[in-house]
Amino acid sequence: MPELENLKKLVKETQEKKIKLVAVSKTKSEEEIMEVYKTGHLHFGENKAIELKNKAEKLPKDIEWHFIGNLQSNKVKFVVPHVSWIHSIDRPKIIKAINKEAQKADKKIKVLLQIYIADEESKIGFSMEELKNWLKGGDYQNLKNVEICGVMGMATFTDDTHQIKQEFSLLKEYFDQLKAGYFSDNQNFKEISMGMTGDYKIAVECGSTMLRIGSLIFGERN
Ligand SMILES: *Cc1c(COP(=O)(O)O)cnc(C)c1O
Repeated sequence: MPELENLKKLVKETQEKKIKLVAVSKTKSEEEIMEVYKTGHLHFGENKAIELKNKAEKLPKDIEWHFIGNLQSNKVKFVVPHVSWIHSIDRPKIIKAINKEAQKADKKIKVLLQIYIADEESKIGFSMEELKNWLKGGDYQNLKNVEICGVMGMATFTDDTHQIKQEFSLLKEYFDQLKAGYFSDNQNFKEISMGMTGDYKIAVECGSTMLRIGSLIFGERN
């Protein structure tokens, strides 16, 4: 069952700091999501395409869905009709596929560039080098049905708060470089999506503008 007291505290804390709060509802039931929805919270995050589609079709239409997981090209069509945001752009091919599908659906989707900052084995996200090489080519400017709004990153899963702080600070630095180099005229490029249940306080210290919080709001996942 959702921890509504935790939610209330998080909402207050994030509103004071003008940070966006995404309640990560992956693996949780529609009933549980409805409990959180009834408090007035409208931003929910999912990391699996079909799960998001199934939930979005049944739940209220004013929910703003955020897709935060690894997205395969053949699943883009399930996600695009339902989402407002996609946090996990990790290769040029996927942003092009999203743009194409969004054009069909006659909508514009806010997207974030996921950048690799952790030192774990499974590398998810662009490296800064890959990202800059792609941006230099300039073809992102032709993607009219996506709005590139900033960056997303995940810190290493560790108790070492010093390391987490270094990684989040690095993401902030990357954001600043990209803003200066490619998006200085784009007022919408302003988001840094970082911080989960275990590390959100550090993320806020390091300049997060969007938190993605699951367990603290919905309870532990099985
Ligand atoms: C599951 C997940 C979260 C939330 O994790 P918690 O530790 O439960 O807060 C945040 N971001 C991504 C990408 C996730 O997959």
